[in-house]
Formats: sequence, structure tokens, C-alpha cells
Amino acid sequence: MSARINVVLDYDGTLTAEEKQAATLAAKSLATLSLEILRVPLVRLEEEYWATRQALVAAPHRYWWEVNGLIASYCDEGAFILNTTTLQIMLKGNPHYSQAVAQAFPDARYDPVVDCTNFLFHYHTAELEPRFRPATRSMLARLIARPDFVPVVLTNSLGDKVQRNLATLHLGELMILGDTRQYEMDPTWEHWFSYPGLGRIQVLPVDENHQVDLRRPAYYRALERETLTADGLVVVADTLSLPGALPLVMGIPFVLLRTPYTPTWCFDFVANHPMGHVLDDLADLPDLLVAIR
Ligand SMILES: [Mg+2]
Repeated sequence: MSARINVVLDYDGTLTAEEKQAATLAAKSLATLSLEILRVPLVRLEEEYWATRQALVAAPHRYWWEVNGLIASYCDEGAFILNTTTLQIMLKGNPHYSQAVAQAFPDARYDPVVDCTNFLFHYHTAELEPRFRPATRSMLARLIARPDFVPVVLTNSLGDKVQRNLATLHLGELMILGDTRQYEMDPTWEHWFSYPGLGRIQVLPVDENHQVDLRRPAYYRALERETLTADGLVVVADTLSLPGALPLVMGIPFVLLRTPYTPTWCFDFVANHPMGHVLDDLADLPDLLVAIR
């Protein structure tokens, strides 16, 4: 019997065309902020949102999603991330907004602004029509047809949205690795990774402008659990910091899907990493998996 490889597939941006949903997500999030959280006119928020976003895009290595004082992701790694980071910078930069957010999220798990943007993300992406990439259905069907590859869908989102959307593909029940919280950063985590040429590390250097913090215990444990259930593991995703860096340092092959928003710094790093692979079309994934198995 051949070995069984669990193919962990990121959901947003990998199976779906996140770049086509980000504008709707932003509009819905700003409307909720305007009406229910900040109670300021929508036009004003829209102007501030676009001004903030321009600043981020002009120097993306200087803006990131920060959780517990650590960088969870740079703002330019994905279309949803750019939206989330823009909202966070906009809310944190205005004391009136920060105060209103703190009042609306008094029992914050991280800090009120992060909880607020998580809420906006989960609440509004759940309402979005699924926009799968053109090759998603046939690629999944090819994996399902093989005894040696088991697709497992990875998501930061709550599993029910993903389950509901995947059901529209009529491929039967797919395994879901949900709520993996790749953004859950813990500065007190004492795990170190041994890395060729660098010794023991907790932060992965990428280039002179970027480094990826590896202190993500929730995601680390999810990957470890997943490793135990199969003979091997491959992770496939559209961004580096959140889903990709931990597999690379854990010795798990990582496939980066190049999308319209993938920054060069992510692509180059994965393309040159011994455990990294890059892909331009999801349709080519089954062949790539056979080649790297
Ligand atoms: Mg993604």
C-alpha cells in the first residue's frame, strides 16, 4: 500500500479568488464600523480607509498585522490581509476610534482592535458568495480520486463557513482543519526551531525588509497533530507568514500559489527554499504533488 499524504489546502485565497472578494469585504466592514461601532459617517470612513491604504501600499514592509506585539503578517501578503491591516492602522491611528472600539469589544481576547477586525472578517466573509478559483473543483476531484492524497482544508475562519461553501462543489465531505489561528502570536513561547546555517531560531529572516516570526503555538500544534494522522504532510497556501513559514521550518513541504497579489519577496523566498515550491495554476497541483512526494 502506498503512503498516504495529507495535502493541507489553505481556503481563502488558495481555493478561492480572494482578490475578487476583498472590495466587498471592505465595503461591508466599513458600513458596520460606521453604523454600529464608530458611529461616524460612512463617506468619512471611506476616505480615511483609502488614504490609509495608499500609505500602506507605498511602503508595505513598514505595515503589518501585529498580535501580542509580534508581526503576524505583512500587509501586502494577501488581499484580505491588506484590508485587515488597513482597518487596524486606521483604527489605531485615531484615539476616538480606538476608544469606541474598546467600548464595543470590552472582553478582547487579543486587543480590542484585533478582536474588532477579526469580528469584521468572520462576520462579513461568512456572508460572501463563494468565489472558487477556476481549477479548484477539478483539482480537488483529482486528489479525492487518488488513494495516496487526502485533501484537508485549512482555515483561520470558523469551519462552518468553509463547510457550507465547499458543499456547493458537490464533492462529498472534505476534512477541515478549522480555526487554526495562524495569527495567534505568543512572545512567551519557548519553542525554538533548528534551522540550517542559523542554529536555533524563533524568527525566520527573509530579506533585508522582512522576517517572519515563528512564535505561533496554536498553528504549530495543529500541524503537529496533522503530521501524526498521515504518512506525510504538504501545505499549500497563497501567503507566506501566516500558513507557510512554520511548515518550512518544521521540514514540511510548502507550496506557495502565486496569485495577482503575491509579492515578489514571498515568491522569491519560497522558490529558493529547499522545502519550498511555487505554483502558478492550481490545476497543476496534483502533478506537482506526485513530483515532490
Ligand atoms: Mg490564504
